[in-house]
Amino acid sequence: GRLPGRAEVGRLVTEAYAAHRGDDTGSVATYIPTLAKADPDACAVSVVSVAGESVEAGDVGTGFSIQSVSKPFVLALVHDALGPAEVHTLLGVNATGMPFNSVMAVELNEQRTMNPMVNAGAIATTSLALRLAGADRGADAAWGWLHEGLSRFAGRDLDVDEEVYDGESRTNGRNRGIAHLLHSYGRVYSDPDVALDLYTRQCSLRVDVHDLAVMGATLADGGVNPVTGVRVVSADTCARVLAVMATAGLYELSGDWLHDIGLPGKSGVSGAIVTVAPGKGGMATWSPRLDAAGNSVRGQLITRDLSAALGLNLFSSR
Ligand code: GLN
Repeated sequence: GRLPGRAEVGRLVTEAYAAHRGDDTGSVATYIPTLAKADPDACAVSVVSVAGESVEAGDVGTGFSIQSVSKPFVLALVHDALGPAEVHTLLGVNATGMPFNSVMAVELNEQRTMNPMVNAGAIATTSLALRLAGADRGADAAWGWLHEGLSRFAGRDLDVDEEVYDGESRTNGRNRGIAHLLHSYGRVYSDPDVALDLYTRQCSLRVDVHDLAVMGATLADGGVNPVTGVRVVSADTCARVLAVMATAGLYELSGDWLHDIGLPGKSGVSGAIVTVAPGKGGMATWSPRLDAAGNSVRGQLITRDLSAALGLNLFSSR
């Protein structure tokens, strides 16, 4: 089946938004300087169908940095170029069950592969952009490759929030430690400082909820952006990436999320969550108050309501 008609989706989006926009549980991330300035009461929802129709509510036009929601899309670009066997060998696809910035995640198995949805695996994934953009072409070409691919997912030319990028670059000692630890195990595929810089830049791309819902809808649509009609990645890549999102997209709370919502999702520390209903559409929420794992509180509640009301749970027989 497909999503219900636009009017019905609109009614349900407004209802879910109204039910949870006043929830003041959780707090805004402060470890990246600019994120601390986010309005804790901001809240927005967008649903984009595989037919390219959209329905939205709340602070829809407000931009924010994409942060970890970039991870599945960079994985998709890398997967599309390398295929599943290399992704499995070079990056790993098992859930860590650990926080997003866990150093222990690197030590989970003898191969020291981990998972592209947590920082360690995401830095390793991003390092492959240097190889894929052309081995000798350097960091600018790798950034061009990442930026162009992520922009194709969104259907528009995304820009970097330079304040977020500068602030995070000055404060990301922990991620630098992770990058160097991985490098000592041969699990970063470029200079670790260059990989970290590309990763930090990718996290600083400015988006709004509509952009994220279009990006999610592209994964839902087997890799074709339903608004631009452009194929971004293959259908096989989408299925693989969605499996990784389902098992690890909300870090150590990924089991709780799947149990409640029954869909692949990916959260970011700016308060965004993208959720994908395969063959139906993408959904995005943004509200900066986070739970202890760094997942938006209101976003989880709104998505839970919409998944149930729209009948999207992948494990439901109805
Ligand atoms: N750029 C952030 C970091 O690496 C992303 C983390 C997140 O969104 N959970 O710490």
